[in-house]
Amino acid sequence: MKRRQFLGMTALGASAAIGYSTLSGFSMFSGRASQKRPLGIALVGLGSYSTYQLAPALEKTERIELRGVVTGTPSKAEEWAKKYNLSDKNIYSYDTFDQIAGNPDIDVVYIVLPNSMHAEYTIRAAEAGKHVICEKPMAVSVKECDDMIAACKKAKVHLGIGYRLHYEPHIREVMRLSKEKAFGEWKTLFAEFGFRIGDPTQWRLKQALAGGGPLMDLGVYCLQGICQLTDQLPVAITAQQVKTDPVKFAEVEETLLWQMQYESGLMASCVTTYNANIHRLHAAGENGWLEMGPAYVYGGLKGRSSKGDISFPEVNQQARQMDGFADVILQNAPNLVPGEMGRRDMVMVEAIYEAMRTGATVKPEGF
Ligand code: NDP
Repeated sequence: MKRRQFLGMTALGASAAIGYSTLSGFSMFSGRASQKRPLGIALVGLGSYSTYQLAPALEKTERIELRGVVTGTPSKAEEWAKKYNLSDKNIYSYDTFDQIAGNPDIDVVYIVLPNSMHAEYTIRAAEAGKHVICEKPMAVSVKECDDMIAACKKAKVHLGIGYRLHYEPHIREVMRLSKEKAFGEWKTLFAEFGFRIGDPTQWRLKQALAGGGPLMDLGVYCLQGICQLTDQLPVAITAQQVKTDPVKFAEVEETLLWQMQYESGLMASCVTTYNANIHRLHAAGENGWLEMGPAYVYGGLKGRSSKGDISFPEVNQQARQMDGFADVILQNAPNLVPGEMGRRDMVMVEAIYEAMRTGATVKPEGF
C-alpha cells in the first residue's frame, strides 16, 4: 500500500473506530438538546493535576462542568471558589465530604488524591450516590479495586478510571491498526515510561501513600499501552529492579524492568523509572512495525510506522475523557475506561511486584 493511501485509511479508520466523541469534536451522544444544563463535577484533591490539567480542561467540556471542590487546604478552597465562581455550599473538606450526598449540584466526583486514598474516597463518593472518576492507578491492590467496583455497583453509579489516552486520536488509531492486524500478528511489544523525579519528600516516594514507585505512577501507562496493542493477557511475568540511590528510593523502586509472555508466543518488554525521561511504545509484527514517541504525554504525541506517519491534530485529552464519561451517564454510551480495566491492570501490577521481590516467574492470577 502506498504511503498516502495508508494515511487516508488511518484518518478514516480512526473516526470509525472511535464511533463517538469523534475527531471533529462532534458527538452523536451529545444530548445537549434534551439536557437542561451540563452535569456538575467536584474535584477531590486540588494538587498539580487538578490545577493545571483538569480545571482548565473543564473550561472546554460541553456536557460536564466544574461545580465543586473537596480540599484539605482552606486557602485553595478560597482561591478556587473565586477563580471558578463556585458556590460556597459546593466546597467541602475531607471531613465534610460525605455531606455531598445531599447536594443536587454535584453529579460526578473525580478522585485526584494520592494513590492509597483512591479506594476510600471512591467508595465514599459511591455511597453518597455520585458517579465516580478515579485517577490512575485505580488503587494500590486488587482487593481495593474489587471493593470499589462492588461499592459502585451497589450504589448503581458509574465508575471510570482516568485513562485519558483512550480518548486521544493517535492512541485510538494504534488500537484500530492493532485490532485490524494492519501489520500482521504482533511478535514483540515494547513500552517505556519514566521521568526524573525531583523533591525527595513528595508522596510519590512514600510507600504508604503511593503504594509503590514508578510502576504505580508511570508503569501503568506501559501496561495500558501493551493492552491497547493486544487483547491477550500475560501468562508469565519476570521483573528486575535497579536502585542507584537507596536513600531517595528507600521505600519504593527507582527503576523497574519487566517482561510479559503470552500463550501465543508474543513477548512484551517494559521499563519504568523515576531516573530518566523516556516515553515510547513500539510494536513489531509479521509485516511491519509502529511506534509512538512521545506516547503518553498530555499533548504532542507522535506516531510512526513502517507504512507512514500516524498524525492527528492535537485534542484536549482530559476534556474528551470527562465529556466521554458524561455521555456514559447521560446517553448510556460505552464506558471506555471502566473500573474493571483498572482492576485488570492492578492484577498485572501485583504480579510484577511479586516477580520483582522473589526473582521468580509469576503467573498473574485472578483477571
Ligand atoms: P499532587 O501531589 O500534586 O496533589 C495531590 C493532592 O491531594 C494534594 O495537593 C492535596 O490536595 C491532596 N492530598 C490529600 N491528602 C494528601 C496527602 N496526605 N499527601 C499529599 N496530598 C494530599 O498530586 P497529583 O495531582 O500529581 O496526583 C494526584 C493523582 O492524580 C495521583 O493518583 C496521580 O497518579 C494522578 N495523576 C494522573 C495523571 C494523568 O495523566 N491521568 C497525571 C498526574 C497525576 P488538597 O490540598 O486540595 O487537599
